[in-house]
Amino acid sequence: MPFCPRAPSDRVVRSSSGEPSVVFFDMDDTIFDHSLTSRAALEVVRRREPRLATLSLDRLWRTYLDHLSAADLTLGSVGHSPAFYARARAARFRALARDAGWNCSAAEARDLSTLYRKEYLRRRRAVPGAVSLVRRVARSRPVGIVTNNQVAEQEEKLAFLGLTRSVDYLIISEAVGAEKPSREIFHAALRAARARPHEAVMVGDSWTNDVLGARGAGIRPVWFNRFGRPRPTRHRVAEVTSFRPAPPVERVLRLGPRRSAPPTR
Ligand SMILES: [Mg+2]
Repeated sequence: MPFCPRAPSDRVVRSSSGEPSVVFFDMDDTIFDHSLTSRAALEVVRRREPRLATLSLDRLWRTYLDHLSAADLTLGSVGHSPAFYARARAARFRALARDAGWNCSAAEARDLSTLYRKEYLRRRRAVPGAVSLVRRVARSRPVGIVTNNQVAEQEEKLAFLGLTRSVDYLIISEAVGAEKPSREIFHAALRAARARPHEAVMVGDSWTNDVLGARGAGIRPVWFNRFGRPRPTRHRVAEVTSFRPAPPVERVLRLGPRRSAPPTR
């Protein structure tokens, strides 16, 4: 399966006056709030396990995200089972405990990671303003999600966010067999939307995956930089720091004024 389109996949809007005909969003930490959900779950784990409390919540959270991104780089998102991810999560907690000066057992790490996962699922949330922005954009043109992860997990997140009907194309690395920042996954997204690169815009939080990845495929990127990070490279790229309120974001996306009669879906 070269890509994973959502119904209705036949909606093609031709752009005029430089407006994009399709808007692609990243999922994690752009629409779905992975980072702050993770922080909230870690806060519970830290309260429950004092041996992790030698690290401040902020330090614990940043260290956990570092372990997670190191694992993402090593493991990728293609072809692993849920049991594999559970083992990887337990290994991350063992490493995190070591960072806190505690040499925990494999069983203790497993218990911590199970508690974390339970709290993560209970506390998950959307990035503020993201759901209403996606719905607003979807009234005037097709919307795609281009994301590195497993199909089942990302489809479930989309349903959790209430966006299944607003998103036309769900382009997931597991289904494509290629990950951002590779051009291949962006080309799959363009094929799904029947759009040329200059007709699309890509919104995402990752400088490497979303900004440089989209640029590499000829798609205009918009960097979602809600934590105010410095730019890793000197590329001139449009940036938004919040999705609220939506109209300034829509201007950065070059969506133009809202249409009074949105196209029939
Ligand atoms: Mg992301």
